[in-house]
Amino acid sequence: MSFIPYGRQSIDKSDIDAVVEVLESDFLTQGPAVPEFEKALSGYCEAPYAIAVNSATSALHLACLALDVGAGDIVWTSPISFVASANCALYCGAKVDFVDIDPRIYNLSTERLAAKLEKAEKHGTLPKVLIVVHLCGQPCDMELVRALSSRFGFKVIEDASHAVGATYKGRRVGSCEYSDITVFSFHPVKIITTGEGGALLTRSPQLAKRMQSLRSHGITRDPSDMDREPDGPWYYQQIELGFNYRMTDIQAALGCSQFRRLDDFVAIRDRLAKRYDRLLAGLPVVTPWQHPDGRSAWHLYVIRVQQNAAKSRNEVFADMRAAGIGVNLHYIPIYSQPFYQRLGYEFAQCPEAENYYSSAITLPLYPALSEEQQDRVVAVLKKSVSQ
Ligand SMILES: *Cc1c(COP(=O)(O)O)cnc(C)c1O
Repeated sequence: MSFIPYGRQSIDKSDIDAVVEVLESDFLTQGPAVPEFEKALSGYCEAPYAIAVNSATSALHLACLALDVGAGDIVWTSPISFVASANCALYCGAKVDFVDIDPRIYNLSTERLAAKLEKAEKHGTLPKVLIVVHLCGQPCDMELVRALSSRFGFKVIEDASHAVGATYKGRRVGSCEYSDITVFSFHPVKIITTGEGGALLTRSPQLAKRMQSLRSHGITRDPSDMDREPDGPWYYQQIELGFNYRMTDIQAALGCSQFRRLDDFVAIRDRLAKRYDRLLAGLPVVTPWQHPDGRSAWHLYVIRVQQNAAKSRNEVFADMRAAGIGVNLHYIPIYSQPFYQRLGYEFAQCPEAENYYSSAITLPLYPALSEEQQDRVVAVLKKSVSQ
């Protein structure tokens, strides 16, 4: 029987046609497709500015730079995320610290956040920026995060790499209603793809301008940003040290085409997730809890193997892989990575993150997953946890 991966892209004829059209056009990069993609993102999310870049990792780096994260600053994030959510602070020379997760929603715990902030205020170690991660596609409790950011004076980045198409309190994730900047990823396993790619959304014209500049070498062609009259029509000035984090038009055309299918993708993921919920009811596994204020984009469907299951998580995982089911684990606590250990991070510093890591399994979930394949996943899991 064929292998069932945990996630995979969905590419149809319209996606292929969109890419071929760019290949046959005048611009492979810096043409019209990138602004078109940005306009679609900004319209959908109802955020005035969208900036497409070559990955979410680049987007996180630019978001930190735009918020002036630098040496001596502290950035907080969740330990249960991809390493990029923390690495971006280190790129800027800042320190990173972790807020343990909530055992029910798996996002960073707002109660622990509040308690940690009060302590940090006393010690003079408040973070400059908090990076929340909408794990699996389920939004964090952003209203609470916003209230804490006003009280303690830190900025907020939403790492919404999993949450393109999710909503919080009836508004799309990416609206930046409760944050300064939101980051999306368009890696093929995520909700929509551009091959590699990412985006930044913001409501702030200043932040948007800064991130646009940093995306392309810190160079401007706008005379009003220059310190003297242009020497001629060829003239540009480098104002600050930027990067080449641009998205190509080939990628953006794929993004525009994928974007038209976004709501369908999320609807299918939602239907399959609810089907998993029904099929797994009664088994010794915890299925994903949904916050009433959020609607997940369902990037990942994570279960936790309970103590009363017939086998351990590792045995269940091995059984499923042996049966050709590409289960996975999202994520290893970031602080336990060798690189972070060498920086001196305490190994098991977040008990809830450790509990989660010892019991979680990501089941396959993607738009082309058929009900028959899903039934096979459930049958193998059922057998493994019951005997
Ligand atoms: C995938 C992912 C990233 C990095 O995205 P890239 O586009 O691959 O750079 C960052 N954060 C989270 C939570 C992710 O899942």
